[in-house]
Amino acid sequence: MKITVIGCGYVGLVTAAGLAEAGHWVTGVDRDSLKINKLRHQEAPFYEKDLEPLLRRHLKTGRLTFTTSLALGVANAQIIFIAVGTPALSDGSVDLSQIETVAAQIGPQLHGYTVIVNKSTVPVGTTRRLETIIAQHTCRPVPFDVVSNPEFLREGNAVYDFINPDRIVIGTDSPQARRIMEELYRPFLKKKVPLIQTNPETAELIKYASNAFLATKISFINEIAELCEAVGADLPTVARGMGLDHRIGPEFLSAGPGYGGSCFPKDTKALIHLARSYGKQLSIVEATDAVNTRIQKAMLAKIIRILGPPAGKTIAVYGLAFKANTDDLRESPALSIIEGLLQAGARIRVHDPKALAAGRKVLGDKVTYCADEYTAAQDASAVVITTEWEQYRRLDLDLLKTKMAQAIIIDLRNLLTPEQVRAHGFLYEGIGRGSKQ
Ligand code: NAD
Repeated sequence: MKITVIGCGYVGLVTAAGLAEAGHWVTGVDRDSLKINKLRHQEAPFYEKDLEPLLRRHLKTGRLTFTTSLALGVANAQIIFIAVGTPALSDGSVDLSQIETVAAQIGPQLHGYTVIVNKSTVPVGTTRRLETIIAQHTCRPVPFDVVSNPEFLREGNAVYDFINPDRIVIGTDSPQARRIMEELYRPFLKKKVPLIQTNPETAELIKYASNAFLATKISFINEIAELCEAVGADLPTVARGMGLDHRIGPEFLSAGPGYGGSCFPKDTKALIHLARSYGKQLSIVEATDAVNTRIQKAMLAKIIRILGPPAGKTIAVYGLAFKANTDDLRESPALSIIEGLLQAGARIRVHDPKALAAGRKVLGDKVTYCADEYTAAQDASAVVITTEWEQYRRLDLDLLKTKMAQAIIIDLRNLLTPEQVRAHGFLYEGIGRGSKQ
């Protein structure tokens, strides 16, 4: 099928490459000419595991092309995906300006029946609103349908997740659009990926309810971690003991510095806002959001409690990205910790395997960027692990100790084994590791 994807960010680009891999002919459109130039030169504009080889493959097969021109991009497309940003406004509601602009731009380009598929995360009611906006902007009456098709990929595993989704959700009342969406996803449905066909409102809410539930799991386990520290219990063991119960499951039970990223913080707030606008209160989601804010602040207090006043001290921070295997810094807990330590007068040396360039754009020359962990640890009074990159599990602790002014590791991702680190002469603190053994 001939497909256009508008918005070549984390979701749009992976969607474009994934659909090309599934055998479709895909044009990616983005208003950012720097991004499109990089893509045309076979370069991914951001780091996402396994994405660049996939892009290269389909730029070569010709199944994937890129343009900044929406008009050119959507010409003759049977299906137009929208995957632009839907950031939060200060009151927690969603800024729909990008998606509404795109809808208005698509309208005049429609000539025959087209399915417009929204992949952006949007409040309930937006799919129908897009229909109205598009209809207002067509040059003459032309048939089209707007379908809600929320995306559940995880940054850092986005390519795998797109190709192997847990489910595909299609929200539309139109039988014609349903048939076309089934044809589009046939390669996935052949692999027995569960398909949920429903109305747009249900599809839109599935996305928010899923993200709010996952965020709740994180806030829940972070509070249990605080209790572990108070009572002398070991959080990873508690989490394992919980997760072996099939009704609970082992995923999303790792304690850490609070959730960040471009989705959970904004999507929980958007769901709270949506419920309130219908006179409903989602007390659990509100608590999830409040706990996350508190946990993030508590991380700074924890570092200062262990380290003493940071003024004049050098601190090595391992990880800028909000999670491993991405260079995405949006709402990264590492950034708020770094800002807090800088305000308290510390000097910061940072390492991240993929996000140093993105970090420079945000932090400028306020910190020192280091190519490896050992350079970052030079003269440091503590190493603080903020992102769960696998390589931080394999630190050469003896070498690390020779570089540091003080042998302290504060492991906000529980990557290391306390006994091993302490055996190398470090003071070690993790999250919820209150075990006295
Ligand atoms: P992003 O900011 O990385 O990408 C959005 C892209 O849209 C940018 O490249 C921007 O230049 C482009 N764009 C904006 N307006 C445009 C226009 N008028 N014409 C052409 N291009 C335009 O965002 P993202 O992380 O890919 O998220 C996109 C949507 O998907 C959001 O609604 C998000 O909530 C949702 N989502 C994100 C994830 C994730 O992990 N990032 C997962 C699931 C769903």
